[in-house]
Amino acid sequence: MDADTIYEELGAPSVINATGTKTRIGGSRIRPAAVEAMSEASQSFVRLSDLQAAASDRIAELTGADKGYVTSGAAAGMYLGAAAAIAGDDLAAMASLPDTEGLADEIVMSRTHRTGYDHALRSAGATIVDVGSNDRHLGTGSRNVEPWEIKRAIGENTAAMGYIQKEYTEPDLDVVCEIAHDHDVPVIVDAAAELPPTTNFERFIDAGADLVIFSGGKAIRGPQTTGIVAGRGDLIESIAAQHLDMHAAEAVYEPAPELVDVEALGGVPRQGVGRQCKVGKEELAGILVALEEFIAEDQDEKAAEWTDISMRIGDALGEIEGIDTRVPTDSAVSVAPEVIVSVDPEVAAGSATDVVRGLRQEEPRIFVGADSLESGAFTINPMCLAEDEIDYVIQRIRAHAT
Ligand SMILES: *Cc1c(COP(=O)(O)O)cnc(C)c1O
Repeated sequence: MDADTIYEELGAPSVINATGTKTRIGGSRIRPAAVEAMSEASQSFVRLSDLQAAASDRIAELTGADKGYVTSGAAAGMYLGAAAAIAGDDLAAMASLPDTEGLADEIVMSRTHRTGYDHALRSAGATIVDVGSNDRHLGTGSRNVEPWEIKRAIGENTAAMGYIQKEYTEPDLDVVCEIAHDHDVPVIVDAAAELPPTTNFERFIDAGADLVIFSGGKAIRGPQTTGIVAGRGDLIESIAAQHLDMHAAEAVYEPAPELVDVEALGGVPRQGVGRQCKVGKEELAGILVALEEFIAEDQDEKAAEWTDISMRIGDALGEIEGIDTRVPTDSAVSVAPEVIVSVDPEVAAGSATDVVRGLRQEEPRIFVGADSLESGAFTINPMCLAEDEIDYVIQRIRAHAT
């Protein structure tokens, strides 16, 4: 393996990524065309609201939503979405966030939709109201949350409903949207990792979502610090008002009118809660170019490529004594078929945990998926593996397991 990457030069061991688009090891491989666009953008200037307005048009076209916005990640999109749902077009409310005294600030969520990313909603000032039970996942009952429970949880303090989109989430998004809309409450959907398929750009808006959030640094392979928000015009405008740099002389303040209606706002908002997650001209240029490439890609070809890599790795590792491999191709949890590698510690040189730890301590470090260690297995995701890394990864796993 190439021992002299930029990371070694800077004093940090580089990583071979066999675990997919994980933020802690750098997410995805940004598209070269996006890097080029960022480099070009870095050398001249643009009014950011103009570039956000252009992004808005493109995102709207792609998703069928009214408007769109680029944030500094999907988590930042959730944060700004919550801020928009709470503050709306009220300048005073924007100024007081994350203090929500006197404002409707509750975000209703099914208990089984809660994740660590909830911090993004709560940082804006929201309080999360849990609904339903976890019975189905625990095996203590057949149902988790009922539509009537959601209905009952919505009240005058409700600012929004939160929803995380996975293949298996319930109740269905359209059911949740119908209930929320009956109460004039917007639905914010975390679809950060739900691409591909590109049909998902439209799917959640079609189901009635008011804001949908995708990560720009996962399968889109844009800059790591980008996210895409699509949704209702007034909410996107509130996001813009709370995110764009607002330290401006009011008399000559004319941000892109598609995103900021200064007259309707009744003044220039101060630097809002979004100011600490700014998006640069480089990131905006990078994500827009990456988006075009992502859309143009042949999804089936990509899926076939990933399946092929996983099959190859599965076959090769399956020959090692004490190792059993499977490649479930109907996986509901990942867009690319992963190899599940089960390690029998009685036969192999160590347990799955030993192998995973050993791989991470090498130089370059090798990261495989560690979410199934408790069942004696690790996983390999083909999405971020380069062709010339595949045999090396197989060889290193063999070295640790025998
Ligand atoms: C990755 C992810 C996020 C965060 O996305 P970033 O673009 O890294 O901020 C949020 N929610 C879910 C479900 C994710 O998978």
